[in-house]
Amino acid sequence: MAFCNKCGAEIPEGANVCPACGEPVKASAAQTAQNVAQNIMNTADTTAEFDPADIQQNKIISLFAYLGILFLIPLLARPDSKYARFHTNQGIVFFIVDLILTVILSIISAIVTGIASATTSVTDILTGNFGAMGVASVIVTIIGLVISIPLLILMIMGIVNAVTGKAKELPIIGKFRILK
Ligand SMILES: [Zn+2]
Repeated sequence: MAFCNKCGAEIPEGANVCPACGEPVKASAAQTAQNVAQNIMNTADTTAEFDPADIQQNKIISLFAYLGILFLIPLLARPDSKYARFHTNQGIVFFIVDLILTVILSIISAIVTGIASATTSVTDILTGNFGAMGVASVIVTIIGLVISIPLLILMIMGIVNAVTGKAKELPIIGKFRILK
């Protein structure tokens, strides 16, 4: 049950303004986060545009699209399958994004570790004082997780969509078209 911040009147579910005073209803932080998450997950599903026989024949091979360089398998083995091409396209975009993020992470890692080692003297290391280096490795690990967990989720979603016969765009990266 929600109440108006201004006049205290009860606000019916789904209302955008207070029925009593017209004050706009502010979404809570949790509500906003939920809306954002829903928008990200709510991607185009074009399954109906594909031939069911094509989907049936190629759903297993299409999962390889999401396994790194193995996207070459559906790309080369099923050049005439529209369904395989759909997933191969997403797999290639995923591969490129993964590559770019891995390069960015290694650069960040090199910089952070470089700064840490510059502030850590040989004496520190000999006396077992790894303070700055320890902090650096924690920072790099956290950034690595922040990058790799969403990638892993996207990869799993792509594989699940492929094998369950869905031509549904992945969140964020699914809009890009490399293969026509
Ligand atoms: Zn009100």
